[in-house]
Amino acid sequence: MTPVPKVLVVGMDGLRFDRVMAVQPPVLIGLMAAGAHGTSLLPYGEAAAPRTESPGEVVPADRSGILARTDSGPGWSSIATGVWPDKHGVVDNSFAAANFTKFPDFLTRAKAARPELSTFAIFSWAALAEHGAFGEGIGTRIVFDGYADTFAACDVRIADAAERHLAERDPDLAFVYFGDTDEVAHDLGPLCREYTAALLLQDAFLGRLLAAVRGRATYAGERWTVIVTTDHGHVDEGGHGGVSDEERTTFVILAELDRPTAPLLSPRLVDIAPTVLARVGVPVDPAWNLDGHPLS
Ligand SMILES: [Zn+2]
Repeated sequence: MTPVPKVLVVGMDGLRFDRVMAVQPPVLIGLMAAGAHGTSLLPYGEAAAPRTESPGEVVPADRSGILARTDSGPGWSSIATGVWPDKHGVVDNSFAAANFTKFPDFLTRAKAARPELSTFAIFSWAALAEHGAFGEGIGTRIVFDGYADTFAACDVRIADAAERHLAERDPDLAFVYFGDTDEVAHDLGPLCREYTAALLLQDAFLGRLLAAVRGRATYAGERWTVIVTTDHGHVDEGGHGGVSDEERTTFVILAELDRPTAPLLSPRLVDIAPTVLARVGVPVDPAWNLDGHPLS
């Protein structure tokens, strides 16, 4: 019998890939070893400060073909939709020109194409729900408020609820967001002990999610793809929005649990949505005008 395809996408906000490689969090490193991974630079990023000292200067074209800040809004919207900010319209955290009607998130698209699919999203940056980056078409959408309750506290609740959902329900497609790495980096920068601790804790949460998946009674008849990514990096001092490589570097880890995975070449955030859709049997329609392509 053909195994049932299922996908878990885990997002870790503001996670610098060089810190992952330095810290060697065991679950992420294990996923990379068993699966595939790659990095790429976001094709956008605005200068953090006005360039008043040289009036004629323009931001280098290769970095600003798309005008957007390396903020969470543009990053998660690109992950969700499979298009860059010039299409989904989110260029900063205001979501002022968002166009999620034309470019819905991958869970909403999957559910629309195949209503029998069970879709699940859980996150603590409430703006993603408020502005529809992860929209109301998702079957089960659980939203916490990291600003009200702290992202660290929300991560614990997210891990608990997602672990339960993955173990006890039957999601075909799940998106799980952890936010404390970004919060800590804003406060203290990504080079400190506290950031390492936040990264290791999120890694442990990821380990619990994978154990929940592998512990499913129906696991033998399922084929799970796990994707882990981030929305942007941070400068060493903490903070993002600008054009530095530290802010623009993103990564994608893709692993088929307990199966060989083909290598990835420079995967981009916009490749995630078409990859997920293809894997759950929703072919990408050229009329959607996506910027990304299915990975491997
Ligand atoms: Zn972010």
